[in-house]
Amino acid sequence: SGRWARAVAILKELEEKCAAPVGKLRQVADAMTVEMHAGLASEGGSKLKMIISYVDNLPTGDEEGLFYALDLGGTNFRVLRVQLGGREGRVLKQEFEEVSIPPHLMVGNSHDLFDYIASELAKFVASEDEGDRPPAGRQRELGFTFSFPVRQTSISSGTLIKWTKGFSIDDTVGQDVVSALTSAIERQGLEMNVSALVNDTIGTLAGGRYYDNDVIAAVILGTGTNAAYVEHANAIPKWHGPLSKTGEMVINMEWGNFRSSHLPTTEFDTALDSESLNPGEQIFEKLISGMYLGDIVRRVLLRMAKEAALFGDTVPPKLEVSFILRTPHMSAMHHDTSPDLRVVGTTLKDILGISNTSLKTRKLVIGVCDVVAKRGARLAAAGVVGILKKMGRDSSPRDGGQVPRTVIAMDGGLFEHYTLFSTCLEVTLKELLPDDVAAAVAVVHANDGSGLGAALLAASHSLYL
Ligand code: ADP
Ligand code: MG
Repeated sequence: SGRWARAVAILKELEEKCAAPVGKLRQVADAMTVEMHAGLASEGGSKLKMIISYVDNLPTGDEEGLFYALDLGGTNFRVLRVQLGGREGRVLKQEFEEVSIPPHLMVGNSHDLFDYIASELAKFVASEDEGDRPPAGRQRELGFTFSFPVRQTSISSGTLIKWTKGFSIDDTVGQDVVSALTSAIERQGLEMNVSALVNDTIGTLAGGRYYDNDVIAAVILGTGTNAAYVEHANAIPKWHGPLSKTGEMVINMEWGNFRSSHLPTTEFDTALDSESLNPGEQIFEKLISGMYLGDIVRRVLLRMAKEAALFGDTVPPKLEVSFILRTPHMSAMHHDTSPDLRVVGTTLKDILGISNTSLKTRKLVIGVCDVVAKRGARLAAAGVVGILKKMGRDSSPRDGGQVPRTVIAMDGGLFEHYTLFSTCLEVTLKELLPDDVAAAVAVVHANDGSGLGAALLAASHSLYL
């Protein structure tokens, strides 16, 4: 029928607009490299903030003692306790707890948010085994993973530039987040020193490096997306601080804010952006990350419902509700391999209130998920190639020497759970690199590496060294 043809045409048009062939991805990768240079050259020189992390020495394996980490970066936060046993013992013991953040605290005030976090931390500390207590006269030490853009002022201080990922608390912006946390910890009557402030990319890089010396970059694909990598300290013109002892400096790119005319975008992206909490910002993130993919799919389905009566004569009211279809729902539908696409059927029914869908409608819905997920995964791969290019690791060494092994540590719920997404990312990465380089590049899942990384950085920046 004409209606069905109209729905198919909408999918076709989506496919064309979202297409990310190799040629386009190379342009995106090149633009990423150019922006990286610009962001390193001067403060405000690029959409990429290229934040200096003050981490110039990544973990070596010699770290020892009891350390805590606290990871705040999206929907949940985690508290972690590790006993590090040095080169031989490594991670002797690791315990963690995950707590979700009540939504009202994400848009309330700074004091309440940090009080909540500190109180959960205090509960966790109280569960410490007697044998794990710090020696008398020594404070507990914590690495704080805070995954929002921060202007770092030392390894253990930094001011919040802006909230992202659905957080919006005006009075935190411009504040030192370590002071805010420290005050809240004191209000709990807890004695604990915040020895390192990092974000999840830096934490993941540090955690990844602890296990594998060839880890040189980290990418987060979760609620949001971001990347960090190891830069030569002398390749950062905007850096006027003390010289790095190792000659290296870890850079937090804040790549979620990348944008380029080469990015394939659609009317759905434009509408999502303009209706978001941060219009005009985090454009790359809005094409790639878990917070947004499901909502892009919803918008496409809504247009199909309105213009092609895909779900009958009336538009299902729930389809009009922003963020009602989450990326885990999209992923569950996309991975459905049952002959009658049962998961697609129940998801449409349970989440969107759409019952009695035909098999061909369900297939069309999967088609939409496929286009949106693959565009995101391919763009993320292009971003990684941009980093490799900046590091001179996207081609064989000019002296004809061996291609160095290059490992990228990845983490985040999207990468971990959305297999079709992560597989597409890895395949695309290999597609974009010459064969010998592709063979030397590995992507590893650094499962919760960020918390461990923060604890390791607290250890290497301990008060008691
Ligand atoms: P955060 O990024 O909030 O620190 P995570 O790394 O755990 O936390 O990522 C959580 C995000 O991962 C969710 O917001 C969601 O978008 C995405 N996600 C979680 N589970 C799945 C899933 N099964 N399929 C696809 N995406 C998922
Ligand atoms: Mg996280």
